[in-house]
Order: sequence, then structure tokens, then C-alpha cells
Amino acid sequence: MKTLNFGNVTIDRVQDWYGALLPLKDFYPTFDRGILESQRSWMEPHFLPLKGSPNEEMLHLSLHTFVVRSGKNLILVDTCVGNDKKRSTVPEFVNYKSDYLGKLAAAGVKPEQVTHVMCTHLHLDHVGWNTRLENGKWVPTFPNARYVFDRTEFEGWANRQDDHGLDGSYADSVLPVYEAGRADLVASDFALDDSVWLEPSRGHSPGHVCINIKGQKGQALMTGDSFHHPIQVAYPEWHSAFCMDLAMSTASRRKILDKLCDKDIWMLAAHFNTPTAAHVVSNGDRRRLKI
Ligand SMILES: [Zn+2]
Repeated sequence: MKTLNFGNVTIDRVQDWYGALLPLKDFYPTFDRGILESQRSWMEPHFLPLKGSPNEEMLHLSLHTFVVRSGKNLILVDTCVGNDKKRSTVPEFVNYKSDYLGKLAAAGVKPEQVTHVMCTHLHLDHVGWNTRLENGKWVPTFPNARYVFDRTEFEGWANRQDDHGLDGSYADSVLPVYEAGRADLVASDFALDDSVWLEPSRGHSPGHVCINIKGQKGQALMTGDSFHHPIQVAYPEWHSAFCMDLAMSTASRRKILDKLCDKDIWMLAAHFNTPTAAHVVSNGDRRRLKI
């Protein structure tokens, strides 16, 4: 993704992982091959592999962090898988190791410079680099940052830490931050400054939020895991197998699409493949992405 430059605010993307995670038909319980094919023209090749290519049937996901520079604030949104985490449910993420910090450095970010870490929600692939292992103990990776968590999300998972979408991440990537006194538990309409504020998009998880970014010359909405794949821009009624409240997740997707459609607001989803940033435009009685 090229840097989005809104004048007084910029957004970059640092990727931690890309790959084919699992079959689309397993990820989307209402998967329909005919529907997917009907939308192929605008999705390939970035968002849908070319016909006949390897892993064509699989859901391809990018795991990335958005780096936001807004005035004095240097903000990371969603922190991917992390290193050395003892996961069990997704083989690719068990004891995963990446040069994420090196990639951040290449983007001009040193850990101590980060002022805020914000998580759209607390699933394992959004909190991993919140912490790193130091002498056998999980410590905040970004020592000077405030970690901004939606209070409903933080409290909603406290008694459900064995959920397969967390897989141990609450204990090693969320609680150590809280116990170190670095967490701010905020309301779903929290505003960090004039350019960065939350809005609720419940359903995928108990306290899922989107993050608005607005500068002098542009605007974006970080939609987290309200959407995993662009097919849901055309078919928001497709919920993922990992959504907690199916009806609410669909309602949140529709609300987001109504806000973005045919407007000059970038959609920045947590898992859309390169180039990631796109606009939502009308497409007959449905919608599509325009890159
Ligand atoms: Zn995710």
C-alpha cells in the first residue's frame, strides 16, 4: 500500500503475514461459488486468485498494522500475530516468528517512539505484537505507548479466554499490558485527537470498533474484521465462521458500507490483500471495491 497522505495525517501499512489460511467455504458458512464468480471481474487478481492458480479455493489474508502519524501522535492499529506465541488452533501461527520490528524500523518507527497502540478488537491476530518475550516474561513491546482498548471488548473476553479466536492471546498479549498500567479502557466513541476516533461496529466480537482517520486532505475508515474479504462488500450478509453475533455483524457491515459508498473515504480493512486501500462504489444494486 502506498502511503496515504492527508496533509497533516499519513497512513502506512506494515505487513506481518500473508497467505492462504483456510478454504473459503469453511470460512463463510453461507459460501456460494456462483455468487463469488459473479463478482470475479472486480476482485481479481488482487483480491481473488486467477482461475486455476494454486490455492484458488482458499481465503487469502494479509495481516498488517496501519501506522498513523497525526501531529505528535504515532499510532499503530492492530498488531498482528507476534513472535513466540504458543498458539494451537492455526498451524501457521504456532510459535510464529517474523521480522515485524525490522519492517517497522524500515517504515521509520522505533518501538519507543510509538505513542499509542489501538486494537479494533482482541482476536489473536490483532494483539500479538502488543507484547514481546523478555527473560521469560511478556512485556509491552512499545514501552512508552498507551494501549487503547474498547472497554466492552476488554471485559467481554475476560471470562472467555479459551475461545478459539483468542487461543491464549488474552493472557500473553492483553493482560500483561493491562497489568503494566499501559492500557486505557475507553468508550466506543473515544476520540484520541481531532483526526483519530472510534466508532462501534459490534458483532464480530463483543466490542469491535472501527477507527476513523481524518486529515486536512483526506479521510479513511479502518474497518478491522467487520470484513475479511472484499466479497462481503457486495454480500454483507456473508458472515465469517468467527463472528460472535451473526445478525449484528451483518448490520455493522451494512452500516459501514452505507457510510463509505460513493464517498471519498478510503476503506482500510485489517485483512484485505495488497493494495489494501480502496473505495466502496455502487455496482448495480450491490457494491464493489475500486482500487
Ligand atoms: Zn483478524
